Amino acid sequence: MNGLLPSKRCPIRMGRARANDPAILARQNRTTMRKPIGGIFKRPTDGRHRLGPMQRTDGTMRRFSEAGAVDFLVVGVGAAGGVLIQRLARAGFKVVGMEAGPFWDSERDWVSDEAGSRKLYWEDLRIIDGANPLSLGANNSGKGVGGGSVHWAGFAPRFHPSDFRVYSEDGVGADWPFTYGDLKPYYELLELEMPVAGPAWFPWGDPHGYPFGPHPMGGVGNALIRGCTKLGIEVSIGGPVAILSGSRGDRPHCIYRGYCLQGCKVGAKASTLITHVPDALKNGAEIRDRSMVGRIELGKDRRVQGVLYYDREGREHFQKAKAVILAGYAIETPRLLMNSACSGFENGLANSSGTLGRYLMAQAGNVILGRFREPVRMYKAPPAHAMTEEFYETDRRRDFARGFAIQTVAPLPISFAKHMMGAKRVWGWGMRRVMMDYNHWAAFGLLGEILPWDDNRVTISQEKDQFGLPVARVTFNLHENDKKLIEFGKDKVVEIMFAAGAEEVVQEPRYAHLVGGARMGRDPSSSVVDCFGRTHDVANLFVCDGSVLPTQGSANPGLTIQALAARTADYLISQAEQIFNSDRRTLAAPPIRRYLSPPGTHGRGVPRPGAIPRSLSR
Ligand SMILES: Cc1cc2nc3c(=O)[nH]c(=O)nc-3n(C[C@H](O)[C@H](O)[C@H](O)COP(=O)(O)OP(=O)(O)OC[C@H]3O[C@@H](n4cnc5c(N)ncnc54)[C@H](O)[C@@H]3O)c2cc1C
Ligand code: SF4
Repeated sequence: MNGLLPSKRCPIRMGRARANDPAILARQNRTTMRKPIGGIFKRPTDGRHRLGPMQRTDGTMRRFSEAGAVDFLVVGVGAAGGVLIQRLARAGFKVVGMEAGPFWDSERDWVSDEAGSRKLYWEDLRIIDGANPLSLGANNSGKGVGGGSVHWAGFAPRFHPSDFRVYSEDGVGADWPFTYGDLKPYYELLELEMPVAGPAWFPWGDPHGYPFGPHPMGGVGNALIRGCTKLGIEVSIGGPVAILSGSRGDRPHCIYRGYCLQGCKVGAKASTLITHVPDALKNGAEIRDRSMVGRIELGKDRRVQGVLYYDREGREHFQKAKAVILAGYAIETPRLLMNSACSGFENGLANSSGTLGRYLMAQAGNVILGRFREPVRMYKAPPAHAMTEEFYETDRRRDFARGFAIQTVAPLPISFAKHMMGAKRVWGWGMRRVMMDYNHWAAFGLLGEILPWDDNRVTISQEKDQFGLPVARVTFNLHENDKKLIEFGKDKVVEIMFAAGAEEVVQEPRYAHLVGGARMGRDPSSSVVDCFGRTHDVANLFVCDGSVLPTQGSANPGLTIQALAARTADYLISQAEQIFNSDRRTLAAPPIRRYLSPPGTHGRGVPRPGAIPRSLSR
């Protein structure tokens, strides 16, 4: 009986009148806000950045002087930049990361709300053109520490071995200057560092298991399983996705309410802000946020001296560095190199090949939406949690090269309304009817490999940004192979949606995941950087982000970009003295430094089978 009596310590048990009393509510709110779970918020101040409760580090951030040269200066602290800085700092180098956006405090700055999360994206002016212009803004790059890894969905499949040999195997695109086997150890490391949850057996590409268990299925995942199973298509459930399926260290597990693209305030989804940046700061890295790098300066010896950047008040500064690594994303990296044109590099820094900005790629990202009689409630799960790569490779029976993946996407209401506006042309009352029906819809995404073409490119325009820097112009055209692939892939997803039991199916064409623009290759006359990201033209200038990818496969690129960053870091550490002091180049593979992983990640996870024959998986 006592247990049902109102208690002073338990407001939930109070009578109705008291519980609704505004004065009591206000007092309760004040108390709650002053003492958030995990600690009291502290406003970060210059030079003393403290991360919020989720990302807490003990101690303050180191500050380097602009006058003295740091060892490595990294432009952009996103998916790649975060991993790179963490490893270089842990190896004992003086490292500064320049980030154009803010240093997020996930507890204070983020909200579980679509409209309130637009600040996570790079929405500065960019010009688009071409026959099939890309929509930019919220559809691609991030801005702020963590970059795109803050608003990514967390899907983390590896590229297939065939992706590294596209030209040799299929006669289209390009080969990478190294093999899948060279990147595989870094895939394994990053899958532990994020970590990636997924099935014990992932049958495609290089078959493998995931270190953390799969997620339970949401309504949209169930629909994909139903559709694929009916058609005899193999499907992966519960991942691979960089979201915690169980709590780990100070990070709680996923609570399945679908705000992954809004940053994940919970901290269950991996972003470098949470997984790598705290360790970088602990090991002495400085992250200079709201610092927009506008130009890379060369000395008379044609070596980089440092970068010119603008602080949060728009004041100009110069930071000296012994080596500079660009990690600003597929558009901003080529833009910065072009804006750094100088005598000897009139067409853009490191552009002696004329390929800078070219071979930009986006994946076909058509969204296919199906209405079901029963409620689906697609928001009640991470959007990314089930997929198939059954159509990934070139199939000689089809009339196009390469292939596609199919994944759950599950847009929240604002994105859903936009898809419906495009797909059904609804507006006004029609839109209201559709929105009232939101819970009955499921959405699958096509992820199709568009090939690298030299006319798909970043150039710089006449328009200027707030710092007076010319902005990027992004030109995009679909070619014959791309169109055939999209048509076939889209029809296949529609077929799966109907097989799952949808009564009505509509689709909206879209693109996803920009990469390319500073491609890597062996030949300096047809690529910008070598196999470790060093520009062919300038010995102490590197690129380490999605812009170096020669082809893009139809896997989401984030895991590959971070694995490449860990590999580049190992190379920089091995070759540091040579990079700082001479123009000599060594392309010997560095040792894999597993001990540089953030503590508590390497060696963790549940052992999973790595080599079950494909026949047994069926
Ligand atoms: C909605 C959405 C969902 C996605 N979901 C997935 C997914 O599920 N799986 C997946 O693999 N990928 C996903 N991606 C793609 C993924 O986020 C990107 O491929 C990845 O973040 C790119 O990494 P990056 O290091 O090249 O660039 P970014 O992560 O974008 O980092 C670049 C950073 O550099 C900074 N910067 C740029 N220029 C300058 C400058 N001049 N000075 C200073 N700083 C600068 C930027 O502010 C930014 O923080 C998604 C993308 C979007 C938009
Ligand atoms: S669904 Fe999971 S990963 Fe996504 S925002 Fe919610 S808690 Fe984070």
